[in-house]
Amino acid sequence: MDKIKITLPAQVAEIIDKLNSAGYEAYAVGGCVRDSLLGREPHDWDITTSATPYEVKGIFRRTVDTGIKHGTVTVLLGDEGFEVTTFRVDGEYSDHRHPEEVSFTRELSEDLLRRDFTINAMAYSEPTGVVDLYGGLSDLENKVIKAVGDPDARFDEDALRIMRAVRFAAQLGFTVEENTKAAIVRHAEFLRDVSAERIETELTKLITSPHPEKLIDAYQLGITAVILPEFDKMMETPQNNPFHKYDVGRHTIAVMQNVPAVRAMRFAALFHDMAKPECKTTDEAGIDHFKMHSVKGADMAVSIMRRLKMDNDTIKRVKRLVYWHDYGIKGDVTKKSLRRMLSQFGAENFEDYYSIRQADMLGQSDYMLEEKKANLLRIRSMYEEIIAEADCLTIKDLKVGGSDVMAIGVPAGPEVGKILKYLLDKVLDDPSCNEKEKLLQMAEAYMTERPEQS
Ligand code: ATP
Ligand code: MG
Repeated sequence: MDKIKITLPAQVAEIIDKLNSAGYEAYAVGGCVRDSLLGREPHDWDITTSATPYEVKGIFRRTVDTGIKHGTVTVLLGDEGFEVTTFRVDGEYSDHRHPEEVSFTRELSEDLLRRDFTINAMAYSEPTGVVDLYGGLSDLENKVIKAVGDPDARFDEDALRIMRAVRFAAQLGFTVEENTKAAIVRHAEFLRDVSAERIETELTKLITSPHPEKLIDAYQLGITAVILPEFDKMMETPQNNPFHKYDVGRHTIAVMQNVPAVRAMRFAALFHDMAKPECKTTDEAGIDHFKMHSVKGADMAVSIMRRLKMDNDTIKRVKRLVYWHDYGIKGDVTKKSLRRMLSQFGAENFEDYYSIRQADMLGQSDYMLEEKKANLLRIRSMYEEIIAEADCLTIKDLKVGGSDVMAIGVPAGPEVGKILKYLLDKVLDDPSCNEKEKLLQMAEAYMTERPEQS
């Protein structure tokens, strides 16, 4: 067989070469070998070597002690850094997450054996070609995620690998091998020992991948029951309603597939109908309804995102989308109501709303599909008119400000804000009111009508 050739970045080749010349083994290893073999661009190049960290530091002029205890030294070449890690054997794991201790070894085979999946357990150097001791090449060929060695032991050591299995399946479009799957089912409970941040990182990679539908595998393997039980409820909630062809879970997957692969958009899609299981009612005709599910769903989404320790900006963006995702669904949007919606939602976020609405529609049945498409287009053209007319949508867009209001006798304080809000409310109904004179007259009228409040 011809030796498979991978083009290493010049610096990686140089580091390997220097280590080899000093008498040590050295290889590119793990994700970068896997991605190169798949024709994907690796995002980092990890190097593994028989040299100890101190030996590595003796060979290169500029190094950083990134994680000496775990064998990792960063070698600096030009303005780039490359992690060089000593062949390693992990000690006992006591918490399903971290080895108690690691020890170094001079055997590449032992280092590869500690890695999670066969496709991640290959090494490469120019002199040796691909070192594939555990069947990684054939698993790549067959598009299979398979644990290295005994899968039960591997998930028992580190439960995060359970998330990684499904996430790689989603990123690469692979399937999880049967024995590996069975071991996941037996160990999914141990995900409770993995930190929320790590779960979220893997979940994000899974749902922003080309195959967010692999979340269904996570459900079938008992993973979501632990990390996102709300999703299991969705999978188990049918929708007997002419507008739907899927249960809530499968509809949700379709919506995720139809929004851009952007974190907040995929999370918004994941959460948009999450309150449906608890909002479901069935009428006399047997038709299911889900009143208020977007409002309740927004609150649920926030508490789940807090549980996953997500950042506040994402929480805000996702909450807003879940809350408003059903706006306009009845086809009764007017420019007046759209101005109100945009005032609260933020006109600059309109494309997010549009994208969710469109994906939501595509994940439904064909019943009245043409009408729904026309309705959505009508909302877009009203939006475009509102933007073209530069209609006032926020307090900032009002032709009067706090100082104008104070100049007609409103004392500084909360009353100023209240009056500006009142004026905005009027202008949202009728944009032609947004003129300084008119607004001040309205403010005066407001104060005389409601003297007890001013
Ligand atoms: P990506 O960087 O695309 O997320 P990757 O495979 O490079 O994928 P990293 O987390 O960067 O993943 O890890 C690099 C390598 O280290 C992996 O390819 C694998 O060999 C090994 N590895 C990482 N995490 C684990 C783990 N939890 N258990 C065992 N081996 C692991
Ligand atoms: Mg990596």
